[in-house]
Amino acid sequence: MATTPTLPDLDRLRPAGTKRSSKRDLIVNVFLRQEGHLSADDLVDLIKREDHRISRATVYRTLQWMVDAGVARKVDFGEGRFRFEHSYRHPRHFHLICKSCNRSYEFLSSDIESLVEEVAAARAFTARQSVVQIYGTCEACRTGKPPAEEGATSELLFARDAMRIAIATERSGLEFYARAARIAKDPRGRNVFQRMAEEEKHHLSTLENRYAKLLEQDPQLESRPTFLFFKGAANGLFARGADDLRRKGVDDLEAYRIGIRCERGSHRFFKRYGERFEDSEGKQIFLEFAEEEREHLEMLIREYRALLRRQDRHPRRTSRPVPRPAASR
Ligand SMILES: [Zn+2]
Ligand SMILES: [Zn+2]
Repeated sequence: MATTPTLPDLDRLRPAGTKRSSKRDLIVNVFLRQEGHLSADDLVDLIKREDHRISRATVYRTLQWMVDAGVARKVDFGEGRFRFEHSYRHPRHFHLICKSCNRSYEFLSSDIESLVEEVAAARAFTARQSVVQIYGTCEACRTGKPPAEEGATSELLFARDAMRIAIATERSGLEFYARAARIAKDPRGRNVFQRMAEEEKHHLSTLENRYAKLLEQDPQLESRPTFLFFKGAANGLFARGADDLRRKGVDDLEAYRIGIRCERGSHRFFKRYGERFEDSEGKQIFLEFAEEEREHLEMLIREYRALLRRQDRHPRRTSRPVPRPAASR
């Protein structure tokens, strides 16, 4: 039996010298077809439907093997038994758990993670794992409204949200550079900012195409609830930068400095969170974007230095004494 297409390197995960087991392949395949959080007994029931000769002990053993191999993750919703969810290409996340119907909803928040890191660091504590579970009543149980049908995987929602954050950042970057090009006095500087704006426009359309492709995988993807929560996303950096450009007396050098600050913050944001995510398309998007921002940052620093050198060589000739640099015009 071939390995399942959703798990291309299952053979690699299998311990060396272990005999291929078709029973185990069946159990793994059935598990991977499920979304959400299964108890061991749920899985036993599903397996019995496929092949009644497979014993409960084999299912339990295989579940443990999947946990060890990083295919499954154990979660405890306080019901007195464990549940299991996919961990392969499935980002680590937090849960909202309905105490009436036992349905659970997944989300990710790097604001929560940052806070946990801060608390741990304050006590010189090495955090290994943090679990955030919010118990309560879901909308379906509270209002009688039919529950939102499942369908999108967390991975897809994660990719959607990561792309939205990248697109928002790209848009605010475009606005920033368009404005910087308008206020630049130095022709070369104007050129640089225009080129950056062009580049942002190009990246924006690439990202939007990619986003449209993602939506093809699930027609309802846009309307599904947010998975990835970011209060301090990087688009805020460029929005603030664009505001700073409006201040009186911002010259070319100052515009470069503001741009450098924005690109550096954005690069750090995407790199820091991208590295923290589990292998997934969302992670990929963040890391690619971090790389793009690093290139922008280096280019701005180069241009900033070149402008400083040019100004040193050709101090502006004025008929009146040059005012002290600190004085505002
Ligand atoms: Zn409920
Ligand atoms: Zn989960």
